[in-house]
Amino acid sequence: MIEAMDISVTKAETSKLNDLNLENLPFGRYFSDHMLEADYENGEWKNVEIKPYQPLLMSPSLAALHYGQAIFEGIKAYRDPQGKAFIFRPIDNFRRFNISAARMQMPEVPEELFMEGMRRLVQLDKSWIPSQPDHSLYIRPFMFSSDEMIGVRPSETYKFMIILSPTGPYYAAPMRIYVEEHYVRACAGGIGYAKAAGNYGSSMLATAEARKKGYDQVLWTDAHEHKYVQEIGTMNVFFVIGNKAITPDLEQGTILNGVTRQTVITLLQEMGIEVEERPLSIDEIIEAYQAGTLKEVFGTGTAATITLIRELKYKDTVLSFDTDTWKVTTQIKETLNNIREGRSEDTHGWMWPV
Ligand SMILES: *Cc1c(COP(=O)(O)O)cnc(C)c1O
Repeated sequence: MIEAMDISVTKAETSKLNDLNLENLPFGRYFSDHMLEADYENGEWKNVEIKPYQPLLMSPSLAALHYGQAIFEGIKAYRDPQGKAFIFRPIDNFRRFNISAARMQMPEVPEELFMEGMRRLVQLDKSWIPSQPDHSLYIRPFMFSSDEMIGVRPSETYKFMIILSPTGPYYAAPMRIYVEEHYVRACAGGIGYAKAAGNYGSSMLATAEARKKGYDQVLWTDAHEHKYVQEIGTMNVFFVIGNKAITPDLEQGTILNGVTRQTVITLLQEMGIEVEERPLSIDEIIEAYQAGTLKEVFGTGTAATITLIRELKYKDTVLSFDTDTWKVTTQIKETLNNIREGRSEDTHGWMWPV
């Protein structure tokens, strides 16, 4: 249980904060003073430590580097106007982490290790949570196989870690998106629903090619027909068509079950907008655009929060939008930011006090 969990804490002698201004930091480049590390061995988690952020010593034969048993999460901590620290819906990330672990044949991380470890680490590095609007402390829990042996089989040892990175706004500008119909991110039966490292390695070539053509990211389509849309980069995607919002469903296990996606579904419904989770084809999207009923398109994710999509390119068709006139996306973004930054009441119990 939580009380029984032994975490040894070694504090850093000096804080790196003395040399850093937390305003407008780029995403994921700076790390706080401490990190959490735990080892899985002989069927149990042990050596739970919070210690100064530092490099790991590892063997070149480390299993994760060869066969990719590696998963992660992305969570954010905020400060309310009174300066109190909160973490947004971390229990949902904890549950998803173990879903990813199960798919990758990795051990479950106990709730007290994940949640209490995170709480103590964030508490210790609380002064790293920026207080400017759109800023936050990004929390990165991750696990990887740590056997030092190059044989293809599930590792017997693992490391679970948490590191913290203060961050400013992620993708600030509305994006131009290339609808991908050659490369594939995920197929039914695959690992699309897991936040597994391999999903990102395999997506980089498609994204690089889209960038060369002048786009920011790709919108993935299904592996079978390249007909149904899936998600964008590290974001789930919503299409406001008529007075409904439509987002791809999770049935096939090809897309990540985003915590921001779930949150936005709830907020849209509370705004009186009907939400449909169902297969959505690129043809239906283009038809709605041509009929003038496709009003807004946006991505959702912890890192980026809500990202406006100003252009979609599919074959020779370009769908472009004047995002300045958008109402739904703007309202969702504002509502969500107000809850996360403590300016409006948290009626759902989403903010977890540190
Ligand atoms: C993390 C992630 C998301 C967004 O999930 P959130 O829980 O909202 O942060 C969406 N798609 C992919 C592929 C992701 O890795």
